[in-house]
Amino acid sequence: MRKTIAVMTSGGDSPGMNAATRAVVRTAVQSGARIFGIYNGYRGLLENDMVEMNRRSVSDIIQRGGTILGTARSQEFTTPEGRAKAAENLRERGVEGVIVIGGDGSLRGAQHLADEQGIAVVGLPGTIDNDIWGMDYTIGSDTAANTIIDAINKLRDTASAHRRIAVLEVMGRHSGWLALITGMSGGAEYILVPEELYDLHQIASEIRAMYDENQKRYVLIVVAEGAGSAIDIGIKLEEMTGIDTRASVLGHIQRGGSPTVMDRVYASVLGEKATLALLSGVSNVVYGVKHGRIVNVNLYDAVTKKKQLDPEYIRMAKVLA
Ligand code: ADP
Repeated sequence: MRKTIAVMTSGGDSPGMNAATRAVVRTAVQSGARIFGIYNGYRGLLENDMVEMNRRSVSDIIQRGGTILGTARSQEFTTPEGRAKAAENLRERGVEGVIVIGGDGSLRGAQHLADEQGIAVVGLPGTIDNDIWGMDYTIGSDTAANTIIDAINKLRDTASAHRRIAVLEVMGRHSGWLALITGMSGGAEYILVPEELYDLHQIASEIRAMYDENQKRYVLIVVAEGAGSAIDIGIKLEEMTGIDTRASVLGHIQRGGSPTVMDRVYASVLGEKATLALLSGVSNVVYGVKHGRIVNVNLYDAVTKKKQLDPEYIRMAKVLA
């Protein structure tokens, strides 16, 4: 049994990180272990910015977006020297293992920390992008998707009133999951993702034909930021079609907000499982949900393999558009 562990949130924040932190801290305390909270991700770890936590340290946070531990990015941690210093700061306090809650970059950093420095690491997938290999779900992705749907509902009202084309840009530099899932559930006519090529001329001529045949009062296009800029796409489409077009960029609103029930429940369950595993001697895994079940994925696989968008969803989104 490990007796002293730490928890941190790192990289881009996501709703539900607090619920996960709460579960980790309370599980550790319940198991009789000491638990340190590391502030501001790897940067805080390098600055030795950590404090011992208790049950009350995580009161009243399950419903809050963001992360009470704070998050940051750290260039220094990407170097072996930086990671040696990070490991030293942990060892000084007797910390035997760390729960890292973060996205693929944070988990990659955790994998290096484990392999080079022998610090035990268990990861929790905290990212709105839902782009971690080996799992269907990441903490925060459901809340972000619901935030986008709320925006889509409002955009549809105004686009319909004016017979406009609405182009909505959502987050996802390398992954189109958010665009795909919200485009499907928001009834978008087109969903543009970085994983798939698209032809704007083709799209423009199809939209023109729909308007000419009077089939449509409006068209909604959801674009992942990695597939192009909504503003540029909007300008081009308006030129090509002659139809009034409005672009919206949702931006950081997608990261915030009170986590949904799904994000709270999974963050809690995954937080408990990850902590029990770390305390019992496990390392180099990431806990996640696949086909509705809790799974642990090898950390190296999780950070080196690329998660693909479900081709069935891509196909269906086109059928239903
Ligand atoms: P996210 O976890 O949301 O993907 P980042 O990619 O910014 O966010 O990663 C967060 C931090 O993790 C970085 O600032 C850096 O300190 C660390 N990190 C990212 N990639 C690596 C890597 N390949 N090796 C070591 N550390 C990394």
